Amino acid sequence: MMNATKKEPPNEIMESIKDLLKKKNAILLAHNYEPPAIQDIADICGDSLELSIKASQTDADIIVFCGVHFMAETASILCPDKTILLPVANAGCPMADMITADALIKKRSEMPGAVVISYVNTSAEVKAESDICCTSANVIQVVNSVPSGKPILMTPDKNLAQYARSLTGRDISYWSGYCPIHNNLRADQVLKVKKAHPGAPFLAHPECRPEVLALADEIKSTSGILAYTAQSSKQAFIIGTEVGILHPLSNANPEKTFIPADPGMFCPDMKKIGVSEIQRALETMAPEVRVSESVRIRARAAVERMLAIPSK
Ligand code: SF4
Repeated sequence: MMNATKKEPPNEIMESIKDLLKKKNAILLAHNYEPPAIQDIADICGDSLELSIKASQTDADIIVFCGVHFMAETASILCPDKTILLPVANAGCPMADMITADALIKKRSEMPGAVVISYVNTSAEVKAESDICCTSANVIQVVNSVPSGKPILMTPDKNLAQYARSLTGRDISYWSGYCPIHNNLRADQVLKVKKAHPGAPFLAHPECRPEVLALADEIKSTSGILAYTAQSSKQAFIIGTEVGILHPLSNANPEKTFIPADPGMFCPDMKKIGVSEIQRALETMAPEVRVSESVRIRARAAVERMLAIPSK
């Protein structure tokens, strides 16, 4: 059993960050997988798309994005007038790196007529070569928005694509990428934890393998897991996603117990940013993430087509 641990950052750094945020009209955003200390000092926590949408709605001039590179790029795509800081430049996503724009262009040429759906966990260049984006929360609605009979190519996550195919019955081909953290969770590990905690529903993220999703009581995005556990009358839950989410889950539901399906579901890239890096980024206004205008306009079109689809 695990409760998220909380490590307090030094007070003087905290005060300095608060001062800098105020002086520079900046806002601090943190993904649900970031370390507890970072989530605790953030103005807004959430999943990648929620954060980018919130970024576009704020009147702050500067966004300090505590997450990984594609998320900061998505904020830049949606907020070209703001300065987007990613406090550690090499905080990346191995899954996003599994496909390039050139590789997608080549694949498209082999599938004339196919509609390309790319997960938001892709580079801006890949989004620019895609017809529409999706998230783990809206993938089914996005797939169903494609006219029937049209073939679909989904990138880069093979597990998310197979999940969408199983629920929609659509003709979906997919790239063979995956999130190493979610893909590593095995069915035998889940069965063991389920046996030790009978009655606790297993909530799995759709980036997990099909055989793991087959064991899930609910398949949900991180925001979906947060919403489900808040309204459920159950007292214990087995969580099949990155362990950073245990912190907001425990904060929101102090009386409930959250058991990681595998405590090793730890994304090193999501833990690269610390308070010192945030302070330095605000002082130096670097590293900045800015998507070139030619890429941004086409990537934004793919993101906006997704945002136009009702989520329920
Ligand atoms: S948890 Fe997986 S999808 Fe998310 S940043 Fe890490 S590697 Fe990428």
